[in-house]
Amino acid sequence: AKDLGRRTYKVYQPGMGDEMRARRLLEEDLHDAIQAGQFELHFQPRLDLKTLRIASYEALIRWNHPVRGQVSPVDFIPAAENSGQIIPIGQWVIDAALSAAKASILDARISVNVSPVQFRDADFIDNVRKALERHQVEASRLEFEITENLLIEDDERALSILMSLKDLGFKIALDDFGVGYSSLGYLSRFPFDTIKIDRSFVQEAGQNSSSQAIIETVVRLGKALNMSIVAEGVEEMDKLLFLASSGCDEIQGFLIGRPKPLANLQRNLPPLVTE
Ligand code: C2E
Ligand code: CA
Ligand code: CA
Ligand code: CA
Repeated sequence: AKDLGRRTYKVYQPGMGDEMRARRLLEEDLHDAIQAGQFELHFQPRLDLKTLRIASYEALIRWNHPVRGQVSPVDFIPAAENSGQIIPIGQWVIDAALSAAKASILDARISVNVSPVQFRDADFIDNVRKALERHQVEASRLEFEITENLLIEDDERALSILMSLKDLGFKIALDDFGVGYSSLGYLSRFPFDTIKIDRSFVQEAGQNSSSQAIIETVVRLGKALNMSIVAEGVEEMDKLLFLASSGCDEIQGFLIGRPKPLANLQRNLPPLVTE
């Protein structure tokens, strides 16, 4: 799987539609991006509402292309999944996150996003295990964020991959909970440590009492299942107060801090004074 990126790499051919041509060009640029050192991880803090300390950081990939400028992961992750290049890119993310975990400034946990394509790659567990050995970091310092669309295709296989990750000592979070095919059955069937409530619920929680009720219900459910609940996309103080009173464990969002390069993170950040 190491040169999957290469094998599926297709060149531009005349007659392609504009959209397809743009996609090919993007894939060509992605192909060189790791070698050229164009990727970077930014880290966004998660605040523990009980201790008011930064409990962990989510690693978010950034692509700085010399001509395109900053390309959003929303725009290039789908192309990378489509071409198979997400596998080496995702492996780069895990390596970079493990070396950040080793850097003394972050004694907090780090979470990384895993694409379904990467997760289902036959070598995924093996690559993760090797990365762990290379970096000599405790597995519990790393949390994998997966989305539920990964669970619906092949339950058994997904479960066995998740169990292998748990056996190695990693934490697992269910990302973007509440959008897509949310099924409560997943929550008891799969070994999640954390549920991340999608930011759409958090952002509606001010005006919309049904979003508030959903959040309160998920928090209660998480408690019953012994999972931590993280709310994403917290931008305002009234949301923080609502989430704290609902019993939510951690919050993440621009109110607490924007994603930043490792070098810009400070130790013992006073909560809510992050800029
Ligand atoms: P996600 O995993 O749901 O990540 C959260 C996204 O919400 C991030 O966008 C983050 O910058 C943004 N965000 C955080 N707090 C707030 C807030 O208070 N308000 C608003 N409006 N947005 C907030 P980003 O970094 O652009 O990433 C977008 C998506 O790209 C991620 O969504 C994830 O699905 C994907 N992604 C990012 N990094 C990686 C990666 O390393 N690997 C994979 N496979 N996917 C990644
Ligand atoms: Ca995420
Ligand atoms: Ca999310
Ligand atoms: Ca998302």
